[in-house]
Amino acid sequence: MTTGNLYIISAPSGAGKTSLVKQLTEELDKLTVSISHTTRQQRPGEVDGQDYFFVSVDEFKTMLSEQAFLEHAQVFDNYYGTARRTVEESLNQGIDVILEIDWQGAQQIKKILPDCIAIFILPPSVSVLEQRLRNRGQDSEETIARRMRDAVTEMSHYGEYDYLIVNDVFERALNSLISIVVSHRFHIDKQREALQSLLQELLSRE
Ligand code: 5GP
Repeated sequence: MTTGNLYIISAPSGAGKTSLVKQLTEELDKLTVSISHTTRQQRPGEVDGQDYFFVSVDEFKTMLSEQAFLEHAQVFDNYYGTARRTVEESLNQGIDVILEIDWQGAQQIKKILPDCIAIFILPPSVSVLEQRLRNRGQDSEETIARRMRDAVTEMSHYGEYDYLIVNDVFERALNSLISIVVSHRFHIDKQREALQSLLQELLSRE
């Protein structure tokens, strides 16, 4: 069986990454999103085991010492990590896996799995980004300014990715994402194995 493709999707918060990824998994089959472990506080509406596995710092460090993470990083004072086993299991079953991770995690994955496909999502403008960050809640100007600075840091790494998508119109950005994932499924390395018996039959005729 052919193994699945591994996708990294990064974006500054406020670019609409999570909504895009959610819709992408509804549009395509054989595609799953890896659920990260994090030490950050669970936000209202988030479900443990669905949005993240919420763990204590001690639990995170134990997993780290057991080499349970494929990659991990500290983002905004909290730890985040991708569990190795579930990702490998899905890939081995021929299922494509999406990692919604930051640039630090992307760098680590690119080193160990260079065939992964890294996609960066940009907001359409600074004003839209700021508006989206403001709409998140009743945060202080200081918090919003910090989020903007963090967003610029994240975006400064866009050149390390294979594909860039601007999330201006949701449907358009979604279609761009779908076409990237679908096109990789037709790559010769995937098709050679998947179409083995057809190719054999077609070529056995004189
Ligand atoms: P949030 O806490 O707002 O859900 O996510 C904050 C940041 O952490 C986002 O940039 C997100 O992509 C990143 N992130 C979430 N999970 C992981 C992970 O497992 N590894 C890494 N490196 N970053 C992650």
